[in-house]
Amino acid sequence: MKKILLGLVCAAALNHMSCTTLAPRSPSLVVMLVVDQMRPDLLTRFDHLYEGGFRWLIDHGISFNDAHHEHSYTVTGPGHAAIAFGQHPGKIGLIGNSYYDRIKKKNVNCVEDPYAKVIGATQGKARSMRQYDTKGLGDWIKEKNPDSKVISLGGKDRTACILGGKDPDLAIYYNKKGKFISSDYYVDELPFWLSDFNEELDIGSYKDSLWERSLPEKVYLDHARIDHYEGEVDDYDNSVYSPVFPIGVNPQTDPSSVFMDRPWLEREIIKIAKMAIDNESLGRQGAPDLLAIGFSAMDGMAHNYGPFSQEIMDAYIKLDRYLGDLIEHINDGVGLENVVFVLTADHGGLPLPEHVVENGGKGGRINPKHIAEALTWVDEECEEVFGKKLYHRDGGNYFLDMARIKKANIRPEQIYEIIDGYLTKVDGIERMAIKQDILNGRDTSNINQRIKNMLHSENTPDIFPIVAYGYISSYPHGTTHGSPYDYDTNVPVIVAREEFKGRENPSRIATVDIAPTIAKYLGIDIPDYCDGKEFEL
Ligand SMILES: [Zn+2]
Repeated sequence: MKKILLGLVCAAALNHMSCTTLAPRSPSLVVMLVVDQMRPDLLTRFDHLYEGGFRWLIDHGISFNDAHHEHSYTVTGPGHAAIAFGQHPGKIGLIGNSYYDRIKKKNVNCVEDPYAKVIGATQGKARSMRQYDTKGLGDWIKEKNPDSKVISLGGKDRTACILGGKDPDLAIYYNKKGKFISSDYYVDELPFWLSDFNEELDIGSYKDSLWERSLPEKVYLDHARIDHYEGEVDDYDNSVYSPVFPIGVNPQTDPSSVFMDRPWLEREIIKIAKMAIDNESLGRQGAPDLLAIGFSAMDGMAHNYGPFSQEIMDAYIKLDRYLGDLIEHINDGVGLENVVFVLTADHGGLPLPEHVVENGGKGGRINPKHIAEALTWVDEECEEVFGKKLYHRDGGNYFLDMARIKKANIRPEQIYEIIDGYLTKVDGIERMAIKQDILNGRDTSNINQRIKNMLHSENTPDIFPIVAYGYISSYPHGTTHGSPYDYDTNVPVIVAREEFKGRENPSRIATVDIAPTIAKYLGIDIPDYCDGKEFEL
């Protein structure tokens, strides 16, 4: 049917333009898909196994394989901020998943909102982007088209709250207690369809669910490493260390708490996305709508097993199927010709250090005991030499009390020397960075710009550690991300439309370019405050 219609359009348009130059119609729906901790190789290594959503996106998408987050600390909050706001996270002030706020003198969550109340359950945290004075793609869309709807959802609260911009119509996230909730920053009550969904969602029924491979074991042995691999987390039936399939829920464990680390969360997220499209008539009212979907459980699973595990391979095979179901649903309800998809990730990640070393690389785990000792020695020596309370320490981050330091007639460098002297003796700590040196250009290391893009004048610590290449703080099992190195900054970016023919674009792009590019594609002017720029589609 569609082909016939296209033929008619071509015939009618022949007088004015050739069929090949016919521009695709402006989309009425933007679907932003953000997979937590997705490295580009998780698309390429299993490419020929994908038959669902990843298949469609690759076959109809322009794939940018040299896309990077140009900031560090590479974690969830800042990564989603770069994608959704087109700005470096330091400038916005979103410098971590949580961070020490110098003025409030306490650690704050990046989507903390003390004024908001939870909507949709008695348990959970009320979250929003209230504390940030800026706007993102969702806001730009709504400013240009007041009828546009912006809905964002994800397992993690920060994922949902950040992806929709500052003022989406609705942000939905999991309360880790069996309900998907929002806050009264967005709505006074949940839409009926989400309440219905919560009523039916019986997390307790996952108690006896087993996570098993979707394909025969041989396929996994061909594409991933052996299942039992030293370094993977074993949190199920772990009387003997055995990080292998099948993976279930321990009898004494509340299934609603492990839900964030299983593929099943993403299946529920897809169900909610489909309900949002149907019940909010997304993509069917002319003005473009934005549906942003974050896949948060993918992060927990990558942390536990690493990108070369059979578990992560299976999580991606399953997500491919779930996404295929979503794309089919969108085709039925909205028509794929009306939709533009973006697929990307909030950060990459390091393979398990054991895997890195086995494959000839350099890496390791930072021993928490060694760190704790070094931190104590620093505290003791600083106190002995200079006296008490010259800084606030948050982990390995130092916030100097400049007034006291000045009064005590000490130079900050003297404190720095003690900190650097002890902490750089710890295997896996490359060096201690000084905020002021990065800001005034005295620090000229090659990763300097990524760190600089993360700096916030108030909230960034004065002295903070830079991890060595290949090293992580996860101990004794699992892996993580957060560094300024390419394995943490490199993420896939695919922009897909039904009319596009799948191809690769080798251009170097940054994740802050995504929001301005989509804005421009929708005919919206890119705000001056954007750090990103439009890339060619
Ligand atoms: Zn993570």
